[in-house]
Amino acid sequence: DTAMYAAKRSGRGQFQIYTPELDTRARDAELRDAVERGEFVVHFQPVVDLATGAVSAAEALVRWNHPERGLVMPGDFIDVAEETGAIVPLGEWVLREACRQAAAWRADIPSAEGLWLTVNVSPQQVKKGNLVEVVTGILTETGFPADRLVLELTEHEVLEPDEVTVARLEALCATGVSFAVDDFGTGHAAINYLRRLPVQVLKIDRSFVAGIDESPQQYAIADAVVALGAAFGLHVVAEGIERPEQARQLLAMGCRYGQGFHFHRPQPPEQVAALLRGADILIGR
Ligand code: C2E
Ligand code: MG
Ligand code: MG
Ligand code: MG
Repeated sequence: DTAMYAAKRSGRGQFQIYTPELDTRARDAELRDAVERGEFVVHFQPVVDLATGAVSAAEALVRWNHPERGLVMPGDFIDVAEETGAIVPLGEWVLREACRQAAAWRADIPSAEGLWLTVNVSPQQVKKGNLVEVVTGILTETGFPADRLVLELTEHEVLEPDEVTVARLEALCATGVSFAVDDFGTGHAAINYLRRLPVQVLKIDRSFVAGIDESPQQYAIADAVVALGAAFGLHVVAEGIERPEQARQLLAMGCRYGQGFHFHRPQPPEQVAALLRGADILIGR
């Protein structure tokens, strides 16, 4: 009880009861301050063409370079950021930083011209943020071309998309931006929603890739998901490829793109630039 009633003086000079809600507010403020202070960094994980190993895309993945805790992974803060809404400014920062970086690669490295940039976008950004203005503004500001940008949405937010969401995605699609369904297969969305949204890419969740080289049943499931993507005319990317045999099997299933520790780990931009300088970039589509 004493903990519950441990009063804390708020900025307005009133006393507030300490509750988990206040803790959430404190974490929200901490995240927003960290964005302002420039404590976040973007790493990039190359996506390869499974047939050639050439880098086709780079996925932006945020990390928190915390002054005391070191490099903190998204698993430790993305959920809170989504809960509190801090993901809106954070996500906008990630998008700007990723586009800025990818535009610099295009300017410096001839083979980077065909590179796709993929950026995770949270449901909050689609629902609460002015996503269309934010994305078009950032593209103009950074000079990164709309037709090289892919926004990754998780299956949860494309589940039962409301009219506003559909309208926003269509407006962005009209500017040349593409959409991917991330972690495909982990939600409970009816496959039907794929027809209602301007989606061009399916990213098969790594849980479907994990056992394909060990279990015929897992293989059959992944095979069916790849076929589903093809049936919808989508580009299919397999996530979480950790072993060469998985890459070989996915290619045999007709999956063209892959991402995983077997190929490249997420890495700081300088390392990606070095890779791009030495790599043949194969353009998707
Ligand atoms: P995601 O979008 O599905 O990103 C792929 C995650 O899988 C990354 O984790 C990556 O490091 C990891 N991964 C890639 N290959 C392998 C592999 O072969 N094996 C295993 N075990 N893991 C692999 P990370 O960077 O920790 O990000 C986790 C999640 O956090 C992301 O999953 C995404 O949902 C979210 N996230 C990351 N950055 C952002 C962001 O800027 N905005 C939003 N909204 N979410 C983000
Ligand atoms: Mg992703
Ligand atoms: Mg994601
Ligand atoms: Mg994923």
